[in-house]
Amino acid sequence: MTKRQCQEAVDRLFEFIDGELTDEELLRIGAHLKECPPCEAELRINEKIRLLVSQAHGEKAPHQLRERVLSTLRMAREESV
Ligand SMILES: [Zn+2]
Repeated sequence: MTKRQCQEAVDRLFEFIDGELTDEELLRIGAHLKECPPCEAELRINEKIRLLVSQAHGEKAPHQLRERVLSTLRMAREESV
């Protein structure tokens, strides 16, 4: 388990959820999520956000909104540490 794998998995979670990755990336990140509990927890959180965002907009979130949600999430997490 390397930090780089975690970084990639977290960075691409939305694409993973949206099925926008190639088969190879999907397999690699999917495998990582299964064996890395912190990243899996991150996936759960992102799935919830994704659901909320898609309910609010009825379609895929604009990139800007996605970034805002992510940075809010990061701030919230840093505060709770
Ligand atoms: Zn990880």
